[in-house]
Parts: sequence; C-alpha cells; structure tokens
Amino acid sequence: MDTKAFKRSLHNSENYHRKGFGHEAEVATVLQSEYQSNLIQQIRDNNYRLQRGDVTIRLAEAFGFCWGVERAVAMAYETRKHFPTEQIWVTNEIIHNPSVNQRLREMQVEFIDVKEGNKDFSVVGAGDVVILPAFGATVGEMQLLNDKGCKIVDTTCPWVSKVWNTVEKHKKKNYTSLIHGKYKHEETIATSSFADKYLVVLNMAEAQYVCDYILNGGDKGEFMAKFSRACSDGFDPDTDLEQIGIANQTTMLKSETEQIGKLLERTMMQKYGPANLSEHFQSFNTICDATQERQDAMFNLVEEKLDLMVVIGGFNSSNTTHLQEIPIERGIISYHIDSADRIGPGNRIEHKPLGGDLQVADNWLPDGPIVVGITSGASTPDKVVEEAIAKIFELKSATAVVG
Ligand code: SF4
Repeated sequence: MDTKAFKRSLHNSENYHRKGFGHEAEVATVLQSEYQSNLIQQIRDNNYRLQRGDVTIRLAEAFGFCWGVERAVAMAYETRKHFPTEQIWVTNEIIHNPSVNQRLREMQVEFIDVKEGNKDFSVVGAGDVVILPAFGATVGEMQLLNDKGCKIVDTTCPWVSKVWNTVEKHKKKNYTSLIHGKYKHEETIATSSFADKYLVVLNMAEAQYVCDYILNGGDKGEFMAKFSRACSDGFDPDTDLEQIGIANQTTMLKSETEQIGKLLERTMMQKYGPANLSEHFQSFNTICDATQERQDAMFNLVEEKLDLMVVIGGFNSSNTTHLQEIPIERGIISYHIDSADRIGPGNRIEHKPLGGDLQVADNWLPDGPIVVGITSGASTPDKVVEEAIAKIFELKSATAVVG
C-alpha cells in the first residue's frame, strides 16, 4: 500500500483534524486546575527539593507531562468542546495514565474495546468523532475510520510522525526498518504499519543476535521463531537484512537505541566494507527530546544520596519503565506506582517491580530522616505526583519546613 499517498489524501480531507479547534485558552484553564499542582511548582522553584520533618523530597529536574502528551490531552478536551453532542471515541488510551483516561470517560469520551487481541471498531458509526492518541494509530485503522466516514482528530505526537517519515524513507530505498522497541507497544505497531519490511528488536541482546546472523548466517528456523511476532509478513532474514535503516519507539532508553544503531553500523561496515556502508545502512536521530531529558535528569538524580526512589507512571508506559531501570541498575530501592492510591494504608506500598507483577511491600519507608527521590513518566500529571508526595509526608507525620 502507498501509505504516503494515503496519508496525503487523508490530510486533505475535511473530516481530518490535526490542529486544535480554537478553544485553547478555555481548555488551558481547565487543564491547569485538573492536572497541575501548586506544591510541585513550589518544589521546582525551591531547586527541586522540599524538606518536611524527617523527609527530604528530591525531584528529578525533568519529569512528568511532556509537551506531546499535554498537546494530545488538550486536543481531546477541545474535541469534546467542539463536538458537544457527537459520539467521541479514542482508538486507545489517549496516553498511558489512568487518571487522565478516567477523566475523559467522565466526559463521555469512549475507548474502543479490544476483543481477542483486536480492536472492535464495529461500534463506530459514520459521523462519529475518533481521536487518535499521542502515540499514533496504524495506517489500517486510519483507513478504516476514513472509509466509515468518521471525523478523525489526530493527536499523534510530531516526534512519532518523524519516525514514520524515517520509515517511509527506508521503504523508498527498499531498506528493512530495524525498529528498536516493543513489538506489542501501540506506537511500534503503528510505526511498523508504515514499513514495508521491518524487524523489531527489544534490546542489545536481540540486536546482537541479528548482527551475528548477518555476519555468520545461522539457523533460519530459530531466527523466525524468535522474531515471529516482531517482523513483517514474509520476512526472510537471508535476504531482508542486506539493507537496514534504524527506527525506534520514541520512548526507549536513548543510550540503548544509540548502542543498537552503532552495533548495526559496525556490523554492516564489517560485512560490506566502509566504502559501501551508505548503501546498506541508514540512521537518523529520532529520539524525542522529552524522553531524553527525563532520562538525563534521572541519571543526575541517582548520583545523589537517596534512600529510595518512587517512580510514578502508568504500568504500561514505556518511558516510565525505562526511568525505573535507572535506579534499579544502581542498586537503589525503587518503587514504580501508577497512582498515589498505591501508597498505604499504613506504611505499605503496592508497586510493580521491573518485569514482575504487582506486589506489596510493608514498612517501605524507613524510620528516621530519609531522602526520597521522585520522578514521573511523560504521561503523568503533576497532580498525581503531588498526591504521592502528600501521602509520603502523611506516613512520616511530617511537619512542614520548606528549605
Ligand atoms: S514522550 Fe516524546 S514522542 Fe512521546 S508524546 Fe511525549 S514528546 Fe511525543
């Protein structure tokens, strides 16, 4: 399918909207009161530090809502205002944050159900308004909604679109897009829908496996079993790894995406010689600034003496999970929670360890003076961070001393 031509015609359609509807100011006031926090602003102004009694909070210097998410949420609110009576759907969670998604439900914005692994679009009718979330939607979904005569409000983050454009460039030159990401993540599913040939690698270990195969060949059956759900239909590792372009899920750990890019570059150089590299390998930087800033702030924070970390964000939020990896790798106790409700009652916390299921930790806040590092993922409103901090203070029965 000519995805480029389809997108061009979609963008020209009167049923397609990717800018706001002129209610920005009104919506900004509502968003401010619903999601922003005076306490968090106070901590920011106080050099990202707040001490109350025995508790010192150290906030990462970049955290929380990124502009892409803020933009998507604002557009969803504007959509409700602009279409007050229409049925409104979102093809997926607008962002990976339970409180924001709940708030939209209260505004009668419905989410498309997933049945047996597939989204059930049968509920969507002509004239309905359908919002595409910040991490995008597949070409197939866009086409289906367009054919149904829906009004499409596209909140796809421009950084994600940038990756899609990169994939289009790979396709034009008949390159395979090697995508660093999670093959089940909505953004990667959307990105791969723009590719002709693609292979998704999760980490360095998988990238190394692919590179070994490129250099030395190997067991094709084993390769295909390993990547059966992470490659394009009809993918053949013997012929489809001769020309590779790098793409990424925008929320992966930046250092890992870079390492994977370098590894592939070295491998292709070794196989085809430096003079021929440009005919076999392409790489553009498509890591979004927001992800990078949050990761860098986390690297700085874990250099400090922290007794523990609390990382706040949706459990299916990729960028939050990557933030959680950083303290864990340094041996700092870190609790990943998705809302302040996971804290208490009493000195307990329900949290999700990396790669594990939810579990409860008792007596998680030690006695005496403690320094608690806090960060939050790109889809977490400041209000949620404030609530978590308030719970921590409450648990330690702190009395307020700012400084
Ligand atoms: S994390 Fe980056 S790519 Fe994702 S929505 Fe935010 S700004 Fe856009």
